[in-house]
Amino acid sequence: MSLPSSVDVAIIGAGAAGLGAARALEHSSLSTIVLEARDRVGGRGHTIMASPEIIFDVGCGWLHSADRNSFVGIAERLNFEIDKTRPPWREQTFDRGFPQHERLDFIRALDAFYARAEAAAMSGRDSAASLCLEPGNRWNGMIDAISTYINGTELDRVSIQDMDAYEDTEINWRVRRGYGALMAAYGASCPLVLDCNVTLIDHAGPRLRLETSQGTLTAGTVIVTVPTNLIADEAIRFAPALPSKVAAAAGLPLGLDNKVMLALDQPGDLPADGGLRGATMRTEMGSFHLRPFGQPCIEGFFGGHFARALEAAGEGALAAQAIDEVVALLGNDYRGKLKPLAESRWGQDPFARGAYSHALPGHADKRAVLAAPVDNRLFFAGEATSPNFFSTAHGARDTGERAAMEVMEVVAARRNAANHVR
Ligand SMILES: Cc1cc2nc3c(=O)[nH]c(=O)nc-3n(C[C@H](O)[C@H](O)[C@H](O)COP(=O)(O)OP(=O)(O)OC[C@H]3O[C@@H](n4cnc5c(N)ncnc54)[C@H](O)[C@@H]3O)c2cc1C
Repeated sequence: MSLPSSVDVAIIGAGAAGLGAARALEHSSLSTIVLEARDRVGGRGHTIMASPEIIFDVGCGWLHSADRNSFVGIAERLNFEIDKTRPPWREQTFDRGFPQHERLDFIRALDAFYARAEAAAMSGRDSAASLCLEPGNRWNGMIDAISTYINGTELDRVSIQDMDAYEDTEINWRVRRGYGALMAAYGASCPLVLDCNVTLIDHAGPRLRLETSQGTLTAGTVIVTVPTNLIADEAIRFAPALPSKVAAAAGLPLGLDNKVMLALDQPGDLPADGGLRGATMRTEMGSFHLRPFGQPCIEGFFGGHFARALEAAGEGALAAQAIDEVVALLGNDYRGKLKPLAESRWGQDPFARGAYSHALPGHADKRAVLAAPVDNRLFFAGEATSPNFFSTAHGARDTGERAAMEVMEVVAARRNAANHVR
């Protein structure tokens, strides 16, 4: 679509949150437009064909808390097959480099860490989750590695209160054709302008005025769904300035996680949906999913400082590291069997600037601050505004729906007030 000059509701961003908002508004009487800076929908949900036979979710892949995940029903309605195979996160294929008795010992240490964190959160005070590590415990490095996968950062930068607020039902499913593909299908009916980078939201006048890379438009209300790092960096600006929003976003930065997809020759030698951890006693290591959905490939996952360093090292560094780690575990013949196909670079992606949000110690309350409307005209959604499902795609979608409801309530209240005056 081309940019309209005026709408009732402008939604900034066509990720899960923006699409959730647009779908919730589609049967309202309000004219709506989604403005998206990229040339595609989905944002941090993006499925590609890494090769003609390998589907790769470059961003989100798991339907976390699947029994409470709104994308499950959407997938069913859109005829997207859901795969309920258990994730291989607690397994080590062939016990290679991480035998079962060691894994059980690690899981005991991890569970004890979570129990201490939960008890610490109950005190009501906030502090860094790293304070709940047992001094000297030999598994601390690996517990920190798990944090880099879950939070995108190490535990010294994670708020205990925020960690405790996250709801994990421990049921994790996948979308066979890709989570990003599901999002694209979900958003297919939304009124949308692509390649439309919004740089300024002027909320001084009676109508909101948006400056974009395709020109200017006015709106009665705006729903902002862009990632927190863009608000904190003021890549998108407000006039008058909204320092409380910028500060809230800065307290909820995006950590970093990156994925790499490696083609696998002779796949029959490895089990479908197996798991491998590259090392066990340190934080700088990859986590590997062998033959996801039985495909002829290995998917690697890296988080935190290590992911940042690999991304900074340039194209191919992630794949090289992944191959080294897999070869160290499975044997030297795997060097010849693995071929890099694709890798993500979410840190340098100008419209993401990271993977997903975590609250810094002392900033758990910032999710509610960021989510709060301004003057009942400027509404906020996106994964970082979810109170309990932050950092996820379904959490993001639900916040978009929540913001759309807020808009509709305000519009209805205004109409009622106008009718009373008449
Ligand atoms: C590697 C990785 C793995 C993940 N794994 C999972 C997983 O397994 N399960 C899960 O649930 N979640 C996962 N996530 C997180 C999940 O992808 C995100 O939480 C979710 O997709 C965020 O949706 P959103 O709508 O809040 O933001 P986004 O998807 O980032 O959408 C925001 C949109 O705004 C656009 N935008 C930005 N700035 C502007 C601007 N100025 N003007 C116009 N448009 C703009 C962006 O291009 C983007 O499309 C993962 C993420 C990554 C990166």
